[in-house]
Amino acid sequence: MINLKFFNPKIDEEDLMKSYDAPVLKKAKEILGITDAWVTYSWGFSKQTEQEDYRFLEEKLENFQTLDIKTHAYVQGTNLVFDEHKEQDYWCRDLQGRLIPYHRGRALCCPNNPAFRNYLAQKVESACQLAVDGVYVDNFHFGQFPVPLKPFVSFFGCHCSFCQKKFREKTGKKLPVAFDLRLHETQAYVLFRTQSLMQLAGELSAIAKAHGKQFGSNSFDTGLDTKLFYGTDSNQLQAIQDYVLLENYNHPAAGKNNHQLGQDIRQSPVPVFIVSYKQAIGKHTAFSQHDINLIHSESMALGYAPCYKASEFTTRGTWHNLDFFTLQPPSSVEYSTTLNTNTDISLPGAGFITYLINRFGTLFLERMYERPTYRKLFGWIIDRLTTRPAKQKHHPQPAPL
Ligand SMILES: [Zn+2]
Repeated sequence: MINLKFFNPKIDEEDLMKSYDAPVLKKAKEILGITDAWVTYSWGFSKQTEQEDYRFLEEKLENFQTLDIKTHAYVQGTNLVFDEHKEQDYWCRDLQGRLIPYHRGRALCCPNNPAFRNYLAQKVESACQLAVDGVYVDNFHFGQFPVPLKPFVSFFGCHCSFCQKKFREKTGKKLPVAFDLRLHETQAYVLFRTQSLMQLAGELSAIAKAHGKQFGSNSFDTGLDTKLFYGTDSNQLQAIQDYVLLENYNHPAAGKNNHQLGQDIRQSPVPVFIVSYKQAIGKHTAFSQHDINLIHSESMALGYAPCYKASEFTTRGTWHNLDFFTLQPPSSVEYSTTLNTNTDISLPGAGFITYLINRFGTLFLERMYERPTYRKLFGWIIDRLTTRPAKQKHHPQPAPL
């Protein structure tokens, strides 16, 4: 996947291939007390391409079992590698009927498309045949992400024929082609999209449970309205899944923290795992002892299960794993509990900008993902935006626990 997603990456393959070896896992458990591991099963390539991945995982599962580490088979969610599935029509469409790219070489798939639903159900079913403890579906969101320029919002979700038909059947109306959060039809579309995705989550969870396996999917936590942005409802996910796994950029070393999630963590009926990145994937060197200490300390204070990113670090341009042999068991350290600031955007001319995004957004994304210079420029901009530290002047006191 690293080879597909990035341009000519240098990869320490020997290091990556050792990830599931007994000495590495033993050390990880000794240092970090690992209880659960999310292990590679399907990254959205064809079955033929993934054969060696299936075999690799099957051979290594015993190493996890010996150490009593639960395994969750990673299944790519609502996007697939386009070239490896181009004979199928699983794809989301934008307002102009174009495919919607999702990183380089991949396109978004529609949760309302019966063929894709069947594909994903089969994938969960086949993962359940392995001696894993659970199945985890990553990148679980519905179609395009919106750009919010309140009260307007750019095109989001999917405009394929299946979505159009289903929306008409449910509401008697056409799918909206312009979005204004003050309008009933936009709100009806937000609800329709969320219900569709949560229904799919329920079906996948039922398959896993029928095999006695746990089920989970990823939840992006960017402080935004998840129903509008991703089509997910955290309350429903908590009811459907055996745990919640939040991914965000709130690593305390990046000047942020997870204290705004304190109440959600306390009220969740299922365990909450949080994986906080310092920067986008592949953009920084491995976590230091201090980085690990910060995550550990915050997880103890807030009561969540810390999920440590173990791979996809880069040093001098080479991709490698976290080296557990250089680490000590974490100790408690102080960190800033200043609350993160709101990220709502409000601009003059928001309606016109939204129109431009709807018209040209997909073309722009194609260029951004497929051409190195565009990618470099926008990667830099996104890094600056996502790693912006919280403003220190707000809420100087820690959030109550
Ligand atoms: Zn659709």
